[in-house]
Amino acid sequence: HPAETVLHAFRDTVARAPEDHPALAYFDGRLTYRETDTLSDSVAGHLAARGLRRGDRVAIMLQNSPHFVLALLGAWKAGATVVPLNPMYKSGEVGHVLKDAGVTALICSDRAWAAYLRETAEAAPDLTIALTACELDLQSVDDPRVLGFERLPAPGPDDLADDLLTVARAGHAPPDGRELTAEDVALISYTSGTSGTPKGAMNSHGNIMVNAERQRTGHPVAEGSAYFALAPLFHITGMVCQLAACIANAGTLVLAYRFEAGVVLDAFAAHRPAYTVGPSTAFMALAAHPDVTPDHFASFQVISSGGAPLPPALVEKFRAGFGPYIRNGYGLTECTAPCASVPPEREAPVDPVSGTLSVGVPGPDTVVRILDESGQEVPFGEQGEIAVRGPQVVSGYWNLPEATEAAFPDGELRTGDIGFMDAAGWLYVVDRKKDMINASGFKVWPREVEDVLYTHPAVREAAVVGVPDAYRGETVRAYVSLRPGTSVEPGELGTYCKERLAAYKYPREVEILAELPKTASGKILRRELRSSR
Ligand code: ATP
Repeated sequence: HPAETVLHAFRDTVARAPEDHPALAYFDGRLTYRETDTLSDSVAGHLAARGLRRGDRVAIMLQNSPHFVLALLGAWKAGATVVPLNPMYKSGEVGHVLKDAGVTALICSDRAWAAYLRETAEAAPDLTIALTACELDLQSVDDPRVLGFERLPAPGPDDLADDLLTVARAGHAPPDGRELTAEDVALISYTSGTSGTPKGAMNSHGNIMVNAERQRTGHPVAEGSAYFALAPLFHITGMVCQLAACIANAGTLVLAYRFEAGVVLDAFAAHRPAYTVGPSTAFMALAAHPDVTPDHFASFQVISSGGAPLPPALVEKFRAGFGPYIRNGYGLTECTAPCASVPPEREAPVDPVSGTLSVGVPGPDTVVRILDESGQEVPFGEQGEIAVRGPQVVSGYWNLPEATEAAFPDGELRTGDIGFMDAAGWLYVVDRKKDMINASGFKVWPREVEDVLYTHPAVREAAVVGVPDAYRGETVRAYVSLRPGTSVEPGELGTYCKERLAAYKYPREVEILAELPKTASGKILRRELRSSR
């Protein structure tokens, strides 16, 4: 059985882990489970002393650093709901979320505070407390609402434990009587916004622990192993599949600030992690790095990819080049990360017709149905909208009853993704409903074209979009970035696809870019490419 809340799992681990067992590793620094417990108690005490009540919202806007974890555990210990914020958000985006979620405490870096958050916070009516985690040089922040974590270190090889212990010495005891339950909302997760306006999905502690436990049993690694946080912790995949799964398995969470391929490879070499989960684009970047060797991946028992399409050609290139098999998984913020994944000891099949790699099978107690336009289930093999019911599906969006009703009729999540299920129960994600291209009345799913582009040896990243065309209505346009040291003419890539796809599907236009635009969680932003023309 999963623990009731992430804090229950954390306390169990504190009680059973050896005294010197690290919970967090950050460059040369380590924090044991006990130190992490004491330090997060102190954060909880500070929050409560400044008037934070049970159920209040605390926003955390930090990269993957120990401060994130201390802030998170501290906020939960104070009985709060956490609103993770992408540190790349600009003032307007932060302002919207602070207001929408009625945030009363913000934990962010002093640099971001000094640069623009102070003004944003002043415009947020409910914000009464702000904390700053000093990732960089401590700046004198002259605001009575601001409480500094004293001298937290810069991202890099610093003496972490010593610095952080200053917080504990200044610490408070955590407040009593704020024990959380499985039903309490742990997170309001604003969807990453590859489409439209962000909506806050309310992930309960129960939702998180169900999926963390599945991760632990479905992708097993030895208790106490090192988990590398490849996905950002502010994204649901990072929060659940890395942080919560690691805590439940008494692991050491290895953090490296933010994704930078060279830094990540160094951290692999130094910490020898057994487990990681990240978006497919991270594996593409690691595989293309000039210093990468198979030895970087020798310690891994589980490498899984989630949150974005995984081209089958990448899985094969990765296995041939470095050894590990990348396990696919499918999830959304609204179902608290995965709802389907590839079971242990199995490999995901590739659909012979479309060439799509399966995302796995639905998890236990999870029912996935494929629906037609009228909401009726379609037979095996037929395409339709993927709908999910299960203990990881959230109860709805914060303060949006109508959007909740539309996305969760009768509590079943309508994902907005098109997919199909084969007769053996393997699920395939074809594409997002809204990304379909209509070329002369023919349906083209960008994924299928991208999967073909990825088989070309020079292609590092690919994105396909529909662009307006006077003759066809829409026409297929591809954007690619190339692997270092390779070159290819755009026209050659068009011909390459033409030889492998039906005439209406191949890209009429191909453009080579140095880098494709991505969300902070690593997904390629087709929307931005469409509007860039
Ligand atoms: P928004 O909801 O604002 O559009 P987003 O959809 O990117 O943002 P997430 O909840 O992070 O927000 O992403 C979930 C989406 O990611 C799914 O709906 C699906 O389209 C895609 N996805 C996740 N895993 C996979 C996978 N294994 N294969 C293909 N697509 C995937």
